[in-house]
Amino acid sequence: MVDLQSQYLHIKDDIDRGIQDVIDSAAFIKGPKVAEFQAHLEAWTGAKHVITTGNGTDALQIALMGLGLQKGDEVITPTFTFIATAEVVALLGLTPVVVDVEPDTMNISIEAVRRAITPKTKAIVPVHLFGQCADMEPILQIAKEHNLYVIEDACQAIGAEYRFSDGTVKQAGTMGDVGCTSFFPSKNLGCYGDGGAIFTNDDELDAKMRAIANHGMVVRYHHDMVGVNSRLDSIQAAILDAKLPHLHDYTLARQRAAAYYDNAFRDNPHIKTPTCIEASTHVYHQYTLRLIGIDRDAIREGLAEKGIPAMIYYPVPLHMQKAYQDPRYKQGDFPAAEQLASTVLSLPMHTELDEEQLKYITCNILELCKA
Ligand SMILES: *Cc1c(COP(=O)(O)O)cnc(C)c1O
Repeated sequence: MVDLQSQYLHIKDDIDRGIQDVIDSAAFIKGPKVAEFQAHLEAWTGAKHVITTGNGTDALQIALMGLGLQKGDEVITPTFTFIATAEVVALLGLTPVVVDVEPDTMNISIEAVRRAITPKTKAIVPVHLFGQCADMEPILQIAKEHNLYVIEDACQAIGAEYRFSDGTVKQAGTMGDVGCTSFFPSKNLGCYGDGGAIFTNDDELDAKMRAIANHGMVVRYHHDMVGVNSRLDSIQAAILDAKLPHLHDYTLARQRAAAYYDNAFRDNPHIKTPTCIEASTHVYHQYTLRLIGIDRDAIREGLAEKGIPAMIYYPVPLHMQKAYQDPRYKQGDFPAAEQLASTVLSLPMHTELDEEQLKYITCNILELCKA
């Protein structure tokens, strides 16, 4: 699905030097490399503040804590996503309110968000699923009308750009009150372990979330609020700082591979290629097909026999997960998400795919999906 080894070999000298510098300095935690990377990521994304964290899940949790949400507050999130989005909501004693997604873009449904708002709603957490921004302009408009916070789960979408109707262009994670991303190795900007970051343009919120990520501490050993311990270590920061200048090219490589797939599958009636909205670019964290009128699981097995990995993201929507059983929801309540769970298939997608590999993958899929 990914080829992190080849990607590393292209920039091995820079990465190795970055790691060695950290070891030589012995500033493993909160070293200067972390501050440098944060500053570089601020410049790259246009976010006023970047706070690095231990992982993307922590970033989401710290964002919710920073906004001061209280037990019982309702947080709207799509049912078709990675579990972390709802997990942190539940962990903090907030109430996850799950809503359906759009059947074509697979991102949160604007109409569903509108219908889910109650007097207890405090925040919306749109997920920029698979690397394409959710439709942020109406989401931000709804949030404004109802006085809600917006926390973007941009874990899969670093570098995706959203164009507002007035022509303003902003990056994924920098549009809401807070944005969160992940540097998990297979993410579009991945480190060699765990890592994450929070984006915000709000000075006060920045200071508060920075303190929360550091045991609720502003002055050393004086704890003003209950916090957590979540930080990006210096070695990971050095690796990310070496990779960041290549992120734009990495995105282009993913988009080229996606264009190859799009073109190859265009005329096959069983294969629906990813739907892009005009307002957002797509950075293809995943290239996810919908397979219609054909046995998806058999296709996946057929590909495995040819040595081609393919993954199902995600086989079970949130409202059908055992840990998230809730009398408010039952099977059939979110038809688009449920349909996606049984039809999606993600293909190999990374920065190192060459034409030979793409040809082998697409030829085999077309053979298996013969009309
Ligand atoms: C990866 C991911 C996360 C969590 O990131 P970690 O760094 O693994 O904690 C959260 N939300 C989404 C949508 C993700 O893809």
